Amino acid sequence: MDNAVWQRVHTLVENANRILLLGHVAPDGDALGSALAVGLALKKRFPRKGIEVSFGDEPFVVPANLQSLPGTDLLVAPADVHPEPDLVMTFDASSIDRLGTLRELAENAPAIIVVDHHASYDGFGDVALVDVKAPATAVVADELIGRLSVVLDADIATCLYTGLVTDTGSFRYAGTTAKTHSFAGRLLDTGIPFDEISRELFDSAPFNYLSLLGGALSRAELVQEAAHGEGMVWTLVPAGDRQALGLAFDLVEPIIDIVRKASEAEVAVVLKEDDEGALRVSMRSKGEVDVSLVASRLGGGGHRYAAGFTADSTDPAQVIASVREQLDS
Ligand code: 5GP
Ligand code: MN
Repeated sequence: MDNAVWQRVHTLVENANRILLLGHVAPDGDALGSALAVGLALKKRFPRKGIEVSFGDEPFVVPANLQSLPGTDLLVAPADVHPEPDLVMTFDASSIDRLGTLRELAENAPAIIVVDHHASYDGFGDVALVDVKAPATAVVADELIGRLSVVLDADIATCLYTGLVTDTGSFRYAGTTAKTHSFAGRLLDTGIPFDEISRELFDSAPFNYLSLLGGALSRAELVQEAAHGEGMVWTLVPAGDRQALGLAFDLVEPIIDIVRKASEAEVAVVLKEDDEGALRVSMRSKGEVDVSLVASRLGGGGHRYAAGFTADSTDPAQVIASVREQLDS
């Protein structure tokens, strides 16, 4: 990002009284962590500006494992956000449809600054703080916070660390570099309880989650001939399973991390039925196959190793057939 871009960001931020920060729908730790980190930094630097953080899901449910993030007092449900912000900033969203029910409000705002790291960013914003080499949006958010001359404190660092560990798979994925670890070191220097943060994010769920996971795993299928013999493992998590166990949708998200362990399969796919009956699809690859291409062709997007889309069809057999067709092409 050159200086002219940062200068535009400065001017837009300085001149805005009401700033709305948006993560993508069904936000993960990187989307919400980055938005809250910048929200806290803006509040610190400009105490008199109106700062709201939201995402376009209705009903508005903050994922359980992100509820203890600092700055959640900045969160406002879509129905309650100020309808005419002077500036919108989006986090971890590569296209405007990822803003869900807040899309129109954002489109009508005088300016949108995009903070992101997707190669599939489609250019929807007025100013792009998009670094496709960054392993997480949190890395770009950190640079923005630095450029705003805000010194990291433990609350901001907790939000950034949440984004960083979420998108790097706790520093295991290929996007991680020495610089990533230095950044993590700077965050740890603020004294954050990194062990508690990771436990809350990855290693904590209600007892009933074990049953949900058990059902999903028992239904998993290995299709060895898929993706030119590279192999695909897939499963389905019906909404009924979740509802019977009293679990919210966000508890389905970590299941892909178990399914993808099957070493016979290059690609893992989980079909997640939401409360409206739509099938949201998560895909992961081990590097040979670029799943973002598959997701893009089916109306979604993402990264080489992790991508997703919401299916046009509500029939799991049809959806998995369309994924296979793309993988086999
Ligand atoms: P997940 O499987 O964790 O929901 O998503 C993995 C990645 O795929 C996300 O980081 C995001 O970039 C992308 N992704 C997931 N669902 C969608 C979608 O419906 N549309 C787009 N554009 N990207 C998605
Ligand atoms: Mn991300």
